[in-house]
Amino acid sequence: MKRSFKIAVLPGDGIGPEIMEAAIEVLNAISKKYDLQFEFKEGLIGGAAIDATGDPLPEETLKTAKESDAVLLAAVGGEKWDNLPTDKRPEKGLLRIRKELELFANLRPGKAYTALLDSSPLKETLIKGVDLVVIRELTGGIYFGEPRGIEERKREKVGFNTMIYYEHEIKRIAKLAFEIARGRRKKVTSVDKANVLEVSALWRDIVTETHADYQDIELEHMYVDNCAMQLVRRPRDFDVIVTGNLFGDILSDEAGALTGSLGMLPSASIGERYALYEPVHGSAPDIAGQGIANPIAMILSAAMMLDITCKVPQAARDIENAVEQVLNQGYRTGDIWSPGTKKVNTREMTEAIIDFI
Ligand code: NAD
Repeated sequence: MKRSFKIAVLPGDGIGPEIMEAAIEVLNAISKKYDLQFEFKEGLIGGAAIDATGDPLPEETLKTAKESDAVLLAAVGGEKWDNLPTDKRPEKGLLRIRKELELFANLRPGKAYTALLDSSPLKETLIKGVDLVVIRELTGGIYFGEPRGIEERKREKVGFNTMIYYEHEIKRIAKLAFEIARGRRKKVTSVDKANVLEVSALWRDIVTETHADYQDIELEHMYVDNCAMQLVRRPRDFDVIVTGNLFGDILSDEAGALTGSLGMLPSASIGERYALYEPVHGSAPDIAGQGIANPIAMILSAAMMLDITCKVPQAARDIENAVEQVLNQGYRTGDIWSPGTKKVNTREMTEAIIDFI
């Protein structure tokens, strides 16, 4: 088994460098415990890259990313660059790196931490024990389908888009979902709108066909409207949800909101050759530079990297467990703080997690 990994480290803007430092410290602690070797190479992205080179994704950064086993990215953006033209803004760097690395799937786990149950908008009895992941197709579907546009027909304006999926696009994401489910509770819910859309009927057929190679995994199909409802009625019943770009965009936000704070939500974007790990939240300019950001989403993104790219699931579980223990002990950064708990800064939170590891 491979024990040595090249990691491209892209801290970006705002709280990015602060939370990235925390994640690297945690990975260094893990590397000692599991005899892993990480070679970190830092690159510029977003506003920091614009300031240094005029480009939100310099060639050098892309090269570093493509020569690495995985990319760790913190966050980009800030007021300073808000008035630049759209294609020169920090966010463009993010969109471009995802496209260049051909990342076709986005994974967003939603896990309810016992210590944070009261920050969920759902009743404790519903949210307790929730542990699911939404896998969203990222490079196809209605956001990219042609033809698209606004034109005039029958003397009035009409707007249109095309929801289109090729067989190979459905197959590769279905396979990924079954593989991920294998390391979890072995259940996949495939979400579509097959009662109305032909593209969904094909989606359903291909997912069912792909399932033939994964008979150890339970597969259910669900319409997207029903899934949106069941996510708030019985979220505990879901393990892996796999769906297209549009439905996934909506359901992953819904699933994220179930479990509370933005500062807790990691994500992974996966392609055939590359993988990128980043928190769901942005660069939080309102608290940047104060050392008070919640590093957990970034640290849990690094844990996803250990799981998916490095294939050391035990190390990933170790980090998740440490996060859970630290929360149980009452440690809270400002964003998740409530009366009766211990308010800590980024450094104190990171050290507490490392102590548990
Ligand atoms: P945001 O996620 O940065 O912040 C929203 C709120 O959540 C803020 O009050 C912030 O302080 C808080 N927050 C977020 N992460 C936190 C953390 N780790 N610890 C503590 N508090 C945290 O979203 P926004 O304010 O809409 O956007 C700010 C900038 O980030 C913008 O420039 C936006 O374009 C960019 N952005 C980047 C990404 C990304 O890099 N993936 C994603 C979203 C937004």
